[in-house]
Order: sequence, then C-alpha cells, then structure tokens
Amino acid sequence: MSPPIMPADPRPVFRFAPTPNGRLHLGHVRSALLNAEAARRERGRFLLRIENIDPARCRPEHEAAILADLAWLGLDWERPVRRQSEHMAEYAEALARLEAMGLVYPSFETRAEIAAAVAKRPDWPRDPDGAPIFPFERASAAARAGRAAGEPFALRLDMKAALARLPPLFWSEQGEDGIAHVAADPAAWGDVVLARKEVPTSYHLAVVVDDALQGVTHVIRGSDLKAATAIHRVLQALLGLPAPLYRHHGLVLDAEGRKLAKSRGSTALAELRAAGLSAGEIRRRALEG
Ligand code: GLU
Repeated sequence: MSPPIMPADPRPVFRFAPTPNGRLHLGHVRSALLNAEAARRERGRFLLRIENIDPARCRPEHEAAILADLAWLGLDWERPVRRQSEHMAEYAEALARLEAMGLVYPSFETRAEIAAAVAKRPDWPRDPDGAPIFPFERASAAARAGRAAGEPFALRLDMKAALARLPPLFWSEQGEDGIAHVAADPAAWGDVVLARKEVPTSYHLAVVVDDALQGVTHVIRGSDLKAATAIHRVLQALLGLPAPLYRHHGLVLDAEGRKLAKSRGSTALAELRAAGLSAGEIRRRALEG
C-alpha cells in the first residue's frame, strides 16, 4: 500500500520583518501586532525575519533588543528566525536568473553623479519615495563600464525590458471593505537597484525571495511600502514566484504628524518602556489612530 500523501501545510503564513538598524518604534509595533493577531485569528503561522543585509547599518545588539522588545510585548514567533545575512547565496541565485534573462546591467554612477545629472533637469521624474529615477540609459551605463577595474558598481534592473516581457501587473490588497485589485506601476520606479555596491542584494530582491521561500501568504506592513509592491510584483512575475495577499496599514505619526523614524526618540519602544508604560498600554497606543 502506498503511503498517504501528506497535504502541504495549508495554514496561512504571516511575517514581521524588521531591519535591525535601530530600536523599534510604535510603527513597528503596529506591524508586528497586526501580523501576530491576524495569524492567531486565521490559525496561521507567525514568522519573524531579520532583514539585516546592510552590515554597515545593522547591528547584532539592535537585533537582540528587537527580539527582547517583541517578547516583552507578549509576542511569540516560530524558530529558527530567518536572518537575511545568512542567505546571500539564495539572493545571488535569483539575481543570476534575472541576469540570464538579460535584464540586469552594471551601474557605476555615484549618488553625486546622479544628483548632478538630475540638477540640470529640474522636472526630471522622481520615484514614489521622492528619489530621482535613474537618469542614465542602460547603453551609456554599459559604455562607462570600462571605468577603472575594481571600481564598485551596483546592478540595476532594466525596467523597460522587464516590463516588455510581462503582462500588466496587479496585486491583491486587503482593505477594510474587502480585497481590492491594485494596478502596479513599476515604471514609476525606473531602473531600480537589485544589488548595491557594498551589498550583493537589495531590499526588494531579498524580500521577494524570502517571502516565496518561507511560503508567506500574507504581507502586512506599513503604507510607506505600498508603492514598492509594484517592484515586488515585477520580481515575482519574472522569477515565477507566488504573490502574497498584501495589506498596507496606516503609519503611526508623531505629535507633529510626521512619519516615525528610528532617529527620533519620542515613540521609541525603549523610551516608553523606561517611562513605565505597560505592554498593554503600548499595544493600545500602537493600534490606535
Ligand atoms: N524590513 C523592512 C522595514 O523594516 C520591512 C519589509 C517588509 O515588511 O516588506 O522597513
């Protein structure tokens, strides 16, 4: 008798994916809580992923503090925790597949060179994060590739060539009133960086590879990452990876109505803890508004 076929684990998979370049603030707490609560409600799995691809900014002590803060808040997650710095080979493999499709090119330009090129063209388009879209053509970037051997370069996605291979892309966005199909606008980002000069991957590539490898079915994160989902959809479509259901939640704002940043202390979890707030009070503050 043949053994029974074990069905794949049907449980939905949620994840909280902080970057350990500082302490958590209430915005991170909101993402973590919404993911953990949804996982509990839907009898799913809750993963924690440490997005530490940038050795210059990510520190083990920040990671340890994040784990301690989350545990103090009463959250629990599956072990082992995936740490992106331990998976560079998987990102390199995905990058190699995109290179084999002819969609990746080296870019030697410095930030200063990009800024200088854009300064001459005041109406040059900016990406949804406000950065100028890459102002050089792939062909001229390739021509400059003859620069001094050993000079560092980034690898960029040829967005036009990528989009020429793909149908119009959408993603499913969970809102208050159900699921909407959002049209992705990846062209608005131009030729995004897939591997940085100093790091052999990028946030976009690593997040897409990891969400697929970890079987993530639901991505709940701040609305500051909503527009970038268009890039993630392009990479998923090119690499043949499934798209999770997305939910981009409103950001927690500070008293002046600004987005929280790790550099501003007022809503840092560590300070609120030191001021004597209970975990319950912090959970309430993170979810209100
Ligand atoms: N690591 C990212 C951050 O801390 C979040 C990535 C994501 O949720 O897709 O902003």
